[in-house]
Amino acid sequence: MSVKLQLEEVLQRVPQGVVLVAVSKTHPVSHIMQAYQAGQRDFGENRVQELLGKMEEMPDDIRWHLIGHLQRNKVKPVVGRVALIHSVDSLRLLQAIDREAQRKGVVQDILLQVHVAQEESKFGLSSEELDGLLADVKVNTYGGVRVCGLMGMATFTEDTEQIRREFRRTRELFDRVRAGAVFPPEQFRHLSMGMSGDYSLAIEEGSTMVRVGSTIFGHRDYSK
Ligand SMILES: *Cc1c(COP(=O)(O)O)cnc(C)c1O
Repeated sequence: MSVKLQLEEVLQRVPQGVVLVAVSKTHPVSHIMQAYQAGQRDFGENRVQELLGKMEEMPDDIRWHLIGHLQRNKVKPVVGRVALIHSVDSLRLLQAIDREAQRKGVVQDILLQVHVAQEESKFGLSSEELDGLLADVKVNTYGGVRVCGLMGMATFTEDTEQIRREFRRTRELFDRVRAGAVFPPEQFRHLSMGMSGDYSLAIEEGSTMVRVGSTIFGHRDYSK
C-alpha cells in the first residue's frame, strides 16, 4: 500500500484533537514527501543528525518533533528549530535546553518523558524523579522552556492489558501534574503516547499525541 493510503487509514483512527506525529526515522526524504504531499505536517525523528539533514531538504512548514533520547551536548542545533522535544528525561537536560534557548532568545516547547514500562532499557523519569524535577521547576524560573506535557512508552509486549495499565499509569501522572498547577493548564496539555502497535489503546487511555512510524512508512531497515 502507498504511504498516502496508509496515512489516511491511520488518520481515520485518530480522532479530532489528537495530533498524529508521523515517525519518519530511517526513511528517505522521497518517501516522507509522499506523506507531506498528502497533507501531513507533523514529523518525528529520533536522531539529531538525521533530523537536521531532513530539515535541510524538506519544506519549512513542517513541525519537527524530536522523539528520541537527547544528549546534552547535542542540544545546540535543535533548540529553536524543532516544534517539540518529547524526550526530556532529566533536570540537567531541561536546564541545558533552557540555557541554549535563552541564548538564542527563543522559547522551546518540551515534554517530560516518564518511565512507566516494566522494561529496564527505556529512558524516562520515574514518578519520584518527576516530582523532584517539578519541585525544582516550581522555585526556579526556566524562561527558555515551556513544559507542554508528558511523553511515555509502554513495554514492547503482546499483553494488551499490561500496555493498557502502563498507559493508564502515564495518564494518572499527567493528571497529577495538571492538578499540581505548576504549569498553566492551557500549556501543559499534551500526553504523547502510542505507537504503531498500540496507538488506538493509547487514545482510549487519554493520549493527545500519537507517534506512528511503521504503519505509515513500512518496516525500517537499519542496515542503510
Ligand atoms: C520509532 C519510534 C516510534 C514509532 O514506532 P513505530 O512502532 O514504528 O510506530 C514512536 N516513538 C518513539 C520514541 C520511537 O523511537
